[in-house]
Amino acid sequence: MIKAITGTKDILPSEIQNWYNLEDIVKNIMNSFNYKEIRTPIFEETRLFSRGIGEATDIVSKEMYTFIDRSETSVTLKPEMTASVVRALLEHSLDKQFQLNKLFYISPMFRQERPQAGRFRQFHQFGAEALGSTSPALDAEMIILAYQILKKLGLSNFVVKINSLGIPSSRENYKNLLKEFLADEVKNLSEESQKRYETNILRLFDSKDERDQKIMENAPLLIEHLDDESLEHFDEVKQMLLAAGIPFEVDPKLVRGLDYYTHTTFELVSGSVGSQSALCGGGRYDLLVNQLGERDVPGIGFAAGIERILLAMENEKVITEIKPQIDFYIVRLEKELNKKVFEIATKLRENNSVEFDYTQRSVKAQMREANRLGAKKVLMIGGEEYERGTAVLKNMDDGSQEEILLSEIK
Ligand code: AMP
Repeated sequence: MIKAITGTKDILPSEIQNWYNLEDIVKNIMNSFNYKEIRTPIFEETRLFSRGIGEATDIVSKEMYTFIDRSETSVTLKPEMTASVVRALLEHSLDKQFQLNKLFYISPMFRQERPQAGRFRQFHQFGAEALGSTSPALDAEMIILAYQILKKLGLSNFVVKINSLGIPSSRENYKNLLKEFLADEVKNLSEESQKRYETNILRLFDSKDERDQKIMENAPLLIEHLDDESLEHFDEVKQMLLAAGIPFEVDPKLVRGLDYYTHTTFELVSGSVGSQSALCGGGRYDLLVNQLGERDVPGIGFAAGIERILLAMENEKVITEIKPQIDFYIVRLEKELNKKVFEIATKLRENNSVEFDYTQRSVKAQMREANRLGAKKVLMIGGEEYERGTAVLKNMDDGSQEEILLSEIK
């Protein structure tokens, strides 16, 4: 039997209502912060991501679904959304039409990761990007936006972690300092970290290897080496979060994997989902747009993993049980009335959800089906009522019945 590809998942009808509910909340809250939805293609030219995300990142170096299509173009299934949003912004000159573009998305993403709980190869993210302003108010707004969505979904067991990566010049100075600090220890680092020492040294803070962690324990921290401008920006963000009553922790080791971040980075981390605990991550990227299109448009955004959020909701028992419900079930009393039932169902379906039996089942079996589907009302077609041009309408809430004219059904 052919099965779904490892790391991909079917979303079954029994789960779909949870997705709808989550998407509704995302859309409503995005709207209240005045973010507009953007939908971009599932695949893009590979160089968009290699340039936009950075060759040294995990995503680009080992996780992308890349293939050469029939016209010899290298294309990639999108592993994240920021690069695509920036491409669309530049391609359609949105930055010239509006000084500030506030955009959101809900979309599948693709990364060839080792599948485990909370980590898939096709997964879904919602997220937001605000392009066109360096104001720390937008950094705070992004964090509050993500926080409010998780809260509205009913989650409570999560923390907001924030950090600042500063402006590139102070980060470059700091990277040199870190290199110096580690110079004698490089040989003792794990193989992966030895590579990262050369290519993406900040990621050493992310290592799960105990030896690496021990070595990194005493490493100098970027936050202690930031310039005044970066510190001031970070301070304003913190002040605004405090004023909004959003609880947060400063985590100086929160470096995030991507090259393009500047200033604020943040994560919302769950205590309810095991090791893959980041529900949401984001940060400011004031240099990315220039890297992709040589226009100076500062930006900030976040992305949140829907499967992980649903898992956290399940574990925190905030997913409400969804009972099936339908407006009408039509019971056919005599087989000869199939066509009539079909006609009535079609009419009723203009304004109601309606189901009937397609398999010639007994009246008893049809009633059972009506109950299983959660029918609010059952319409019985047949018998002497039918001869009289009427039908019995049963209200399933209280069991009461009334006789109605067939000609008045709509
Ligand atoms: P990132 O784009 O890597 O910052 O990820 C943002 C969020 O997307 C994470 O916090 C996760 O919730 C989710 N996410 C990232 N990768 C995966 C994956 N492979 N499977 C499921 N969710 C993921």
